[in-house]
Amino acid sequence: MSNRRTIAREQKSVLQTFSRLPVALARGKGSWVWDEDGKRYLDFQTGISVSNLGHAHPALLKAMSAQAARIGHTCNLFYQERQVELAEELLQAAPFAERVAFANSGAEANELLIKFARRAGAAQGRFEILAFHGSFHGRTYGALSASGQVKLHKGLEPLLPGFRHVPYNDLEAARRSVGRHTAAILVEPVQGENGVVPGSDEFLVGLRRLADRHGLLLMLDEIQTGLGRTGKLFAYEHLGHDCVPDLMSLAKSLGGGLPLSAVLSGARATAALGLGEHGTTMGGNPIACAAGLAQLKLVRAPRQLAAASKVGELLLEGLRALQAAHPGVVREVRGRGLMLGLRLTGPAKPVVLACLERGLIVNGTADTVVRLLPPLNLTPAEARQGLAVLGEVLAEAASRASAGPSTAPKRKQP
Ligand code: PLP
Repeated sequence: MSNRRTIAREQKSVLQTFSRLPVALARGKGSWVWDEDGKRYLDFQTGISVSNLGHAHPALLKAMSAQAARIGHTCNLFYQERQVELAEELLQAAPFAERVAFANSGAEANELLIKFARRAGAAQGRFEILAFHGSFHGRTYGALSASGQVKLHKGLEPLLPGFRHVPYNDLEAARRSVGRHTAAILVEPVQGENGVVPGSDEFLVGLRRLADRHGLLLMLDEIQTGLGRTGKLFAYEHLGHDCVPDLMSLAKSLGGGLPLSAVLSGARATAALGLGEHGTTMGGNPIACAAGLAQLKLVRAPRQLAAASKVGELLLEGLRALQAAHPGVVREVRGRGLMLGLRLTGPAKPVVLACLERGLIVNGTADTVVRLLPPLNLTPAEARQGLAVLGEVLAEAASRASAGPSTAPKRKQP
């Protein structure tokens, strides 16, 4: 098979809803992937923060295959040990939580957050959820309605009612918007799809206080920020004990590369849902839980978290140097840990494609932002290789900007 043939077949068989990069990935090992033409790429995207220990990690392969050989699916009408083990590990990792509910995707976990908020507020007539402009919570109707991006809503109205969107990082606006129907606040500690926009400490701590003052549930969507991505296991840990949530959604790398998501609920929320009030056929599948458990144990080891933070600092420093070298192309460098964004002065797509051409996979989001989500076990040498490619691409973009559009791009792989 080749890139060209797979792409041609895809265009005739799969619904055309994705603007894909023009390669078909065939295999991966560690921080590297290969396409169907045999070309190698350094993966600074990890399938949007899913393959967080790189590709084909031996401990994950072992856990998956051992569980698949034992029993691959049970459904939730039975108890199964892998699910319990992963729930216990998550409760240990996030001591605010007293229960875990499993699902399959980020959107589905956020649907459950919405249910929690509605059920918890029902007796007092509270149903409204305060959410934020630019947020992304998923593509199902509830999660989409919670997402503060008008372009995603177009043509799909009427959406689920009961969401009030206010500007991100604007605590005063949030304060003003709490009313007698408000039940909960839903927020990403760093907005990922909106171009890696970190919530300020003041904003996030202020939301926790606001929730306390009005008896609201603070619901953190840590689907992208969670599980080590920002340098701590959960992004709320950057704020000590000042922004501990009542509910938190996780997904992406939770299943070690298999579809798995979860909602962790604290003491103020757990009782809102009882027997028969929620369900899923596949959520908490034993193979996904086995892989997720292996991954979580490795990712939460202090040495791994410290290594991820250190390589994150190396990348951040390198990106800042690139910004200083090319201020006409890079407007801003932002992010935390290994969730980093370069806001450009123009569209991100040409930079993403030029990186791809040279064997580096990065992600373009929010039109002008190049987002980097490399594996958490990226080596310093790999970080430098990625920076070198980005440096070449940005230097070319800078020289094209000054010399006009006809300058031909150079081709070199890391
Ligand atoms: N929430 C956040 C913060 C996300 O980044 C995403 C996906 O990118 C989602 C929710 C939706 O997750 P999924 O695509 O697994 O439904």
